Amino acid sequence: MTRHSGMADALVIGAGVIGLSAAIRLQEAGMRVRVWTAHPPGATTSAVAAALWYPYRAYPADRVAEWARRTYAEFLRLAGNPATSVRLVPGAEVWRHPVEDPPWADAVPDLRRIPPAELPPGFVDGHACTVPVARMGSYLGYLAERFAAGGGRLELRTVRVLARAAQAAPLVVNCSGIGARTLASDPTVTPIRGQIVRVENPGVDRFWLDEDHPDGLTYIVPRGEDCILGGTADAGEWDTTPDPEVARAIVRRCAELEPRLAEARILEHRAGLRPGRPAVRLEAESLPGGARVIHCYGHGGAGVTLSWGCADEVAEAAES
Ligand SMILES: Cc1cc2nc3c(=O)[nH]c(=O)nc-3n(C[C@H](O)[C@H](O)[C@H](O)COP(=O)(O)OP(=O)(O)OC[C@H]3O[C@@H](n4cnc5c(N)ncnc54)[C@H](O)[C@@H]3O)c2cc1C
Repeated sequence: MTRHSGMADALVIGAGVIGLSAAIRLQEAGMRVRVWTAHPPGATTSAVAAALWYPYRAYPADRVAEWARRTYAEFLRLAGNPATSVRLVPGAEVWRHPVEDPPWADAVPDLRRIPPAELPPGFVDGHACTVPVARMGSYLGYLAERFAAGGGRLELRTVRVLARAAQAAPLVVNCSGIGARTLASDPTVTPIRGQIVRVENPGVDRFWLDEDHPDGLTYIVPRGEDCILGGTADAGEWDTTPDPEVARAIVRRCAELEPRLAEARILEHRAGLRPGRPAVRLEAESLPGGARVIHCYGHGGAGVTLSWGCADEVAEAAES
């Protein structure tokens, strides 16, 4: 990579899980990297994520399965380091109709179909498996520190025009999440609002995912001392104010799977905007003037799940 005095080799836009992971991989490839972000890591959509490894509402299935597989493998390594906050959690996705094995089945070593007798009442199919879970507050802090320790600089700056960002580095990596709708003039990026309730953990040690509950998406993600209860997936909704009635309904649905949650002490309500897109955009483009942009956005409900696989591919694209 060519060195430009005083100039970075790559400028990453965005300090969510996608931007920080990509910045670290570019650094590891020997580049001097800067991150510009409109919000600090703790105020991104990524900070709201339940952060269960699970490919949810991200496309296309084949690329998603490969990014998810790579990320699973990386999270396995990170789970050995308590500073990352990544842990492995057993649990189940359960269904009210028969399902095929998921396209990402190969990524998860212990995935098995649950025999009908072991399913909770009301369910006809399901898979049990162990998957990584990150506490996003701590995990984003870990990523930001790792980036800084590698000599990276993170600055609070909003980019209005991609071509201007290209004045700061010959390579721009656009990891702006829902912000790509305006930054990349891409109307196919749309919000999928998600609301969660964080509660004190009454002793739950398995995750649950019930995607087709008739009253809405339902999931429980235990993280040790607390649990994230979800959720919602409201396409086209921009409001990030948590709705108290929605929160009560979330707790009610989760308590159907784990009755102890009905009385769990509520610690926090949050809502965020998943960057929905018909397909994740991970591709390089040349800007007028010659600078290169690698776009990496539109990860829907699976940004954490796809983060390292996409970061690897960004680094590969940067070197090609
Ligand atoms: C309730 C909820 C639960 C979820 N649960 C899970 C889960 O269990 N597992 C999972 O894998 N995923 C989950 N997700 C999805 C996940 O949070 C997203 O896919 C992921 O956060 C997307 O990451 P990102 O880095 O692309 O975007 P973001 O985290 O939104 O980061 C975008 C960054 O770009 C910056 N930016 C935007 N525009 C500009 C600009 N013009 N100039 C400078 N900076 C800019 C922002 O400031 C921010 O730093 C969940 C999401 C929600 C809302």
